[in-house]
Amino acid sequence: MNPKKDKAKRGDTSRFIQAPKGMHDLLASEEPYWERIESVARDIVRFFNFSKIDTPILEYADLFRKTTGEGTDIVEKEMYVLKTKGGDLLALRPEFTPSICRAYLQHSLSRLGQPQKLYYFGPVFRHDRPQLGRYRQFTQLGFDILGGMNDPIHDAQSILILTCLLEEVGIKNISLKINSIGCRVCRPIYKKQLLNYFKNKEGELCADCVNRLKTNPLSLLDCKNESCVNIRTEAPNFLDKLCTTCSSHFKSVLEYLDELKISYALDHQLVRGLDYYNRTVFEVFIEGEGGGVGAVGGGGRYDYLMEALGGHLTPAVGWSCGVERIVSVMKAQNVKLPMKFVKRVYLMHAGDSAKKKALGLIRDLWAEGIPVSESLAKGSLRAQLKSADKEGVALALILGQKEIYENSVILRNMRTGLQENFPLDRIVVEIKKRWRELGNTR
Ligand code: AMP
Repeated sequence: MNPKKDKAKRGDTSRFIQAPKGMHDLLASEEPYWERIESVARDIVRFFNFSKIDTPILEYADLFRKTTGEGTDIVEKEMYVLKTKGGDLLALRPEFTPSICRAYLQHSLSRLGQPQKLYYFGPVFRHDRPQLGRYRQFTQLGFDILGGMNDPIHDAQSILILTCLLEEVGIKNISLKINSIGCRVCRPIYKKQLLNYFKNKEGELCADCVNRLKTNPLSLLDCKNESCVNIRTEAPNFLDKLCTTCSSHFKSVLEYLDELKISYALDHQLVRGLDYYNRTVFEVFIEGEGGGVGAVGGGGRYDYLMEALGGHLTPAVGWSCGVERIVSVMKAQNVKLPMKFVKRVYLMHAGDSAKKKALGLIRDLWAEGIPVSESLAKGSLRAQLKSADKEGVALALILGQKEIYENSVILRNMRTGLQENFPLDRIVVEIKKRWRELGNTR
C-alpha cells in the first residue's frame, strides 16, 4: 500500500456520483449570503406591502408555450419536459411569471384588491450550456404588481424595489438598462421594419436568427452571436417608432426614475427575448468587480399575459433576479455581511458523571426554547472549548463534577472568558437576560 497514493485517492471525489451538470449543492459556507438576501427581500415585502406566493415547481408545459412563447430559446431549447404516467406533459418551471399569472387567474386574486403585489423565491430550471453565472438549476426571486391601473408609476416602483434590494444587500456599481418595446398598435409596424432590415442580411445571420425571422423577429436583437451583434448596429430604433400612448408611458417612467435619481441607460436593442413583454423592459448589470456573471435581474411590463391564458387584459409589471448571481457579485465585491448574534449556547461537560447529566440538561433547555450545540462524544474540555469557539456562540454552559453535586452550572461568556456559577433553576432566565444585553450591544 502506498499511503501517498491512498491519500490522493481519498481527496479525489470524482469517482463518486456527482450532482447533475449545471446543478449545485448549497453548502453551509454559502448560507449566510442566501440568508442575507432572503432577509432583505422579506423586509422589502413588509415595507412595500407585498405578499409571498409559492407555486408548484412543475406546471403544464402548455403554460409556458402559450406565454413565454413557442419561438423562444427558453421554451424551444431549454425547458425540461416530462410525460407523466397519466400522459400529461409537465415542465419544470423555467421561470415564475407565467405561474404567477396562472395562479392569479385560478384563484381570482383580483378580487382580493388591486393591484396584487406578489413576491416569490424558488428554483427554476433551464437546460442551457453551463458557464459562469449560467446554471441549469438556479434560484429566482421576484416582485410583481398585477392588476389595477396601467400606470407608469408601477414600472418605476418595480425598478425602485429592484435597486433597493441590490443596494441593501451591499452591491455597488449597479447599472440599469431600459427600453420600451411598444404595444399591439406600434409593435407590428416596427416588426415589419425590423424584418425588412434583417431580410436583406439573411445570408450573414446565424442559423438560429434565420429561424427567428419566421418565429420571433424581435429576438434577433437578443442574439449573442458576434456576427449578428455586428449586423444589428444599424437596425431601426424602436424608440423612434413608438405610438403616442407608448411614448408618453415610457416618458413618464423615465421621469419617475429621474425624480428618484435612479440613473439608467436607454438601450433600444434590449428586448428580453420572451414573448409576453410589452412597453417597459429593463435589465440590471454590475459594472466592474463581479459584473462577469451577466444580468443580475431583469423584467418589464406584461399587460397581455393574462389574455394569453384566457383572462382579461390585466396590467402587470415585475422582475426577477438570479440569486446565485447576486451571491457571486456579493463575494466578488467583498460585501461584509452584518455580524449575526448567534442565539445558541454550547454545552460542555467535564467528566463521566457530567456527561451522564448532559442529555437531561439538553432536554430541559429544549423545553425552554434554548438551542444547544455540543460535542458530547469529546472527552477533553479543551477540545470542546475549541469547537464552541469555532461555532461563534456567545455563551457556553459548563457542567462539571462539582456543579452536579451543587445542582448548578457554569455560564461562560465566550467573548470575555468570564465564568460565573448559577443554580440550574435560574440558568434559563440568566441566558435570556444575557442574550438581550448582547443583542443590544451588537
Ligand atoms: P430571465 O428570466 O431570463 O430574464 O432571468 C432573470 C434573471 O435570472 C437573470 O437576470 C439572471 O440573474 C438569472 N438567470 C437567468 N438565467 C440564468 C441561469 N441559467 N443561471 C443562473 N441565473 C440565471
